Formats: sequence, structure tokens, C-alpha cells
Amino acid sequence: MSVRVRFAPSPTGKLHVGSARTALFNWLFAKHHHGTFILRIEDTDQKRSNPAFLDDIYASLKFLGINADEGPLFQSQRMPIYQEHAKQLLDSGKAIQKEGAVMFQISPRQVTFKDLLRGDITTDTTLFESLVLMKSDGTPTYNFACVVDDALMHISHVIRGDDHIANTPKQVILYEALGLPLPVFAHIPLIVGADRARLSKRFGATSVDEYRRVGYLPEAFVNYLALLGWAPGGNRELVPPEELIELFDLAKVRKTAAYFDQKKLDWLNGQYIKQMPVPKLARMLAERLINKGILQPGYDPATLERITAVIQDRLRVLEDIEEEHIFFFQDPPQYQDEAVAKFLRQDGVGKRLLELRTRLEALPQFDTAAIEQTTRAMVAEQQLQSKDLIHPARVAVTGRSVSPPLFDVMAILGKTKVLHRLEYAATKLADTQ
Ligand code: GLU
Repeated sequence: MSVRVRFAPSPTGKLHVGSARTALFNWLFAKHHHGTFILRIEDTDQKRSNPAFLDDIYASLKFLGINADEGPLFQSQRMPIYQEHAKQLLDSGKAIQKEGAVMFQISPRQVTFKDLLRGDITTDTTLFESLVLMKSDGTPTYNFACVVDDALMHISHVIRGDDHIANTPKQVILYEALGLPLPVFAHIPLIVGADRARLSKRFGATSVDEYRRVGYLPEAFVNYLALLGWAPGGNRELVPPEELIELFDLAKVRKTAAYFDQKKLDWLNGQYIKQMPVPKLARMLAERLINKGILQPGYDPATLERITAVIQDRLRVLEDIEEEHIFFFQDPPQYQDEAVAKFLRQDGVGKRLLELRTRLEALPQFDTAAIEQTTRAMVAEQQLQSKDLIHPARVAVTGRSVSPPLFDVMAILGKTKVLHRLEYAATKLADTQ
């Protein structure tokens, strides 16, 4: 039997992290089995559907590298198909018409279906109300459209969030009524946030788009989502997409809710950033900075690559470049009040910075080694401790008390900017007694 799966989002909101994982599990399962992954847009509720959300779903799936083999198919374009199947049930007396709606009466019985993760699930339908198949406005309900489509699209495995588990017995009854073969079901557990409740907006980002904007790499994000509730074995944490496909095993997905661990995601993202070739990372950062108006399109790629090389191991997310390393792109940099108070407003600091400025100005070659040698020579001659000069100089040049190695930073910034910043800090910010 060839594997055919579908991801069936409703365009009523941005693509949620939980839905993204459902999409990913479907996609990994399809790719692993050389099957087909279908994208179906469940947009029968025209009032709640919004083209902007549809664009977000496409963009987010594209970002994650999840590409559809078939589709997108739109339920809104398949109305005659649902009407025809409703008519079939009406004609055979299995459904009835009531106030313009098509209803299906469920008789009390036990319904059993096979769930790939949980085994057989049996439900007693005694308390079920009758099902609406078609609403009075002529549109199908979720359960009905879903069954008709899954059957006509020859879906072999329905993999979806376990928030739908209560719908499945109703759908099984509809398959039987329509004389259609059942797919295999796999209900995957929800993702929960720090408070162990369903991942919600109250705890940070919930949409893929938000993670994309902050600068998570698609490979890292996919790696993280895939390992949320599933493990390839061998304690592996870094598993790139091609290997995920090779190793993915739906039956081994855990049955308990998956805890979304932001710190783990950050760590993993940092690992992927570390592994990137510098020129590629530099291009990604440049694109980001240009979009934010921080960098001009005519920037110097060589300088940006030097910056990238010194910050690479420090980045968790691409956004960190704006948050922590903005001093490379601002003149003068923004000075952190705390760093200024602690390291610049100290007796004699202004004079020291001006002296360093004079010594650095005299350098014929403004490179890391020469800058370091000059600075250390001044420390020795003036019988200072290195921190008495290096900490204030760091704040003067970067505006911050923590930065990548200072002499590298100075060499990248170049003599003119460094001299200017030392002077600025010495005369405008430091205590010059
Ligand atoms: N449109 C439904 C949802 O977004 C699809 C559920 C299913 O996969 O059957 O939850």
C-alpha cells in the first residue's frame, strides 16, 4: 500500500508550532516511505478564513522546507463533492434533512479504530448527539468534509493532533455509512508550554513566523520539532532533515504531551549556527540587517565576514546580532548605562583612554596583534592591571561590558572608528579627573 498523508490546516490563524509539528510528522512519514504528502486547505468556514493566514501557512511551510507533493487543494472548491455525498446518504435513508441541514443519527454502539500510537481505541456512542453533515447554508461540517476528502484522496494514514481524538469515532461511523475504507489513524500528543498547559500565546511565541523573525534556522527548528516527542535513538540531538527522514518512525512517537523547551531550542539553534560556513552565515545576517535598515545594500562583504567570524560562536539566534553586536554598525554605539557607570565613571579612566588613543593612533598597522601589544605595553608601563584598561576600553568601543574579544573587535572596526570612540567615551562619558 502506498503511503499517502495530508496536512489539513484551516486558514484561521498563523501556522502554530503544534500544527507545524503535525505537518512535519506527516511529511517525514511520507518521505521516509517514499509516499505522497498532500496539502489540503480546510477553508469551508469562509467567515473565519483569511487569505493573509493562508499566505502565512505557505510561507511558514516553505521556511521549514516542507513541500507538498499534491495540492494545495481547497475544500471551498469542492462543495459539489460534499453535496453529492450528502445526497447519497439522504437517498439511502442514512441521513435526514432537518431545517435545511443534513443530519446523521448515530445509533448506540461501540466503535473501534486502530491508532498507530495507542493501539485499538473503542468508544461508546450512546451519548453522541446526531451529527450535522451539511449546515443549512449548504457548507459541510469539518467531520463530514474531512471523511469525504480523506477517502477520495486515498489517504492511507491520518496523522493529526490528539485534540481531534474525539472526532475520530464519528468519522469512522461516516466512513462506514459511505461504504469507504478506513485509513490508519495516528493521534500525536499536543505540545505544552512551561506551565504544562497547551502551548499558548501567554508563554512567548506560538507561530512559526515569530520564530522565523527572531532568526531561528529552519534546519534547527525542524530538528527541534521532530525531536519533540520522538527520538531517533542513541541520544542524538543534532539530526539534520535528511537524516530525520531516514530515521523517522511514527510508531515510536511518545504518547505523552511534549514539553516545549525554549532553552533547548536556543541551544540547538546555536549549534547549527556554529556549524555554518562563515560566508553563508554572513549572507544571512546581511539580508537580515538590510531588511532592518541597519546595513546598506552596498556593504563590504569582507568586513561582514570578519564580524561574523568573531560573533558566530556567541549567536543563539540571528536576532542577537542586533541585540548584542549592534556596535559594529552604529557610530557612536549605544552606551549601556550600567556599563558606563561601572567602568567609565571611575577616577582616571578618561585620561587612560586618551592615552590609549594616542598610542593606538601611532600604529602603522592597525591589526589585532599590534593593538594587543600596544594595550599591554601601556598596562605594564603604567603599572595597571589589564582589567583597568581593557574593561573601560571595551565599554568605550562597544558600549557594553561584554563583547567578543576586544582586540579583534577593534581591528575590524578600524583605526578611525576606534580612535573616535575612545575620545568620545573619554571626553563625554568618563570621569576625567
Ligand atoms: N482543519 C483541521 C485542523 O486544523 C484538520 C484536522 C485533521 O487533520 O483532520 O485542525
